[in-house]
Amino acid sequence: MSENTLLNVIQSLESKFNLNPYQKKQIKKIVEYWKVGTTIYPGDIKSRTAMTIETTYKLLKELNQKGFLEKRYELYCSECHSFKGEVLKTLTDDLEDNYCDFCNHEFIVFQDTILIYQVVKLDIN
Ligand SMILES: [Zn+2]
Repeated sequence: MSENTLLNVIQSLESKFNLNPYQKKQIKKIVEYWKVGTTIYPGDIKSRTAMTIETTYKLLKELNQKGFLEKRYELYCSECHSFKGEVLKTLTDDLEDNYCDFCNHEFIVFQDTILIYQVVKLDIN
């Protein structure tokens, strides 16, 4: 068994971020459902753990740096606040459609995306 499983790494980060018992319990529940390919919405983690959004992003950033998660960018119209349902791997990817279906706003990738993550590994050696 590798010591560097996602759950082990998260447990070591819990003390770094001073998480309370409730937050630890909630994170464990969430992470147990993570599989390679799972999409992670920081806002969802924040609401299910009651961590601040800053802590949530810091935690996810650490998991990204360790190689468990990769960044993704979901297209989100900054004008009418709707999700387009399109996820980009990088901010330089071409868009399928340059205009919002709902309000016809022309997307600017740097402004009309939110940072999300995708699970790419469950343990590292
Ligand atoms: Zn729109």
